Amino acid sequence: MTNEYRYKLQNSSKKNRCPECNNKTFVRYIDTNTGDLLPEQYGRCDRESKCSYFVAPPAEIQETKCLFVPFDKLNDYSNKAFQIKADGKIFFLPKAMTFEVIETGCYVSEWYLNNTDKPPHFLDNDYRFYLRGERIDKPRYLNNKDRPLRHTAACFPVDVFKQTLQGYDKNVFIQNLLSHISFPFEIKDIETVISQYYLGTVCNGYRAGAITFPFIDKYEKIRAVQVKQFDSTNHTWKIR
Ligand SMILES: [Zn+2]
Repeated sequence: MTNEYRYKLQNSSKKNRCPECNNKTFVRYIDTNTGDLLPEQYGRCDRESKCSYFVAPPAEIQETKCLFVPFDKLNDYSNKAFQIKADGKIFFLPKAMTFEVIETGCYVSEWYLNNTDKPPHFLDNDYRFYLRGERIDKPRYLNNKDRPLRHTAACFPVDVFKQTLQGYDKNVFIQNLLSHISFPFEIKDIETVISQYYLGTVCNGYRAGAITFPFIDKYEKIRAVQVKQFDSTNHTWKIR
């Protein structure tokens, strides 16, 4: 079965949070066979000029659930279809929807059986899964509660965070540490701390020169960035 059109971008009026830029401009993929959304890393960000995150679902997740269709007889009718005789009647099954033929019946796409007029009798409780034409023991993604979803909590925009990782010559707190008269810190020690904790600088605006402390979770997602403004005596500013 070709899966070219099986996964579609969801109606674009439904916007989700983009895994890259965190804006609500993200359109996810839907499995048209089941109505399920695909794992949330698959989709397209509509902020094309600024973000352009676009990850199409790979072949590995194109799994198909098939149900057993018992038959009395099967004919190889054409290069497109099988003809079966079941319950005394004749049915045609597209080969693209028929994933395996055994002696007493065949396994046919559940989606096809549920979306075709007058399908042959099929068994709901006898099913198999296929991935790129090969039978697999159990589904890895579809109809599977254990599908690998990305962490979903709100995050700080990565592009804004990246802009903080500069301007250390204007960073009042860092410069205070370097110029501390009684006990100056070594540049290499300060650089180590900056890179370990991703300390940054607010470069523009009324808080220019402030230091930033990102909170990074175990998924390496930036959950928040704290901004602290110090004066030349290395005391924090009062909240204005
Ligand atoms: Zn985006």
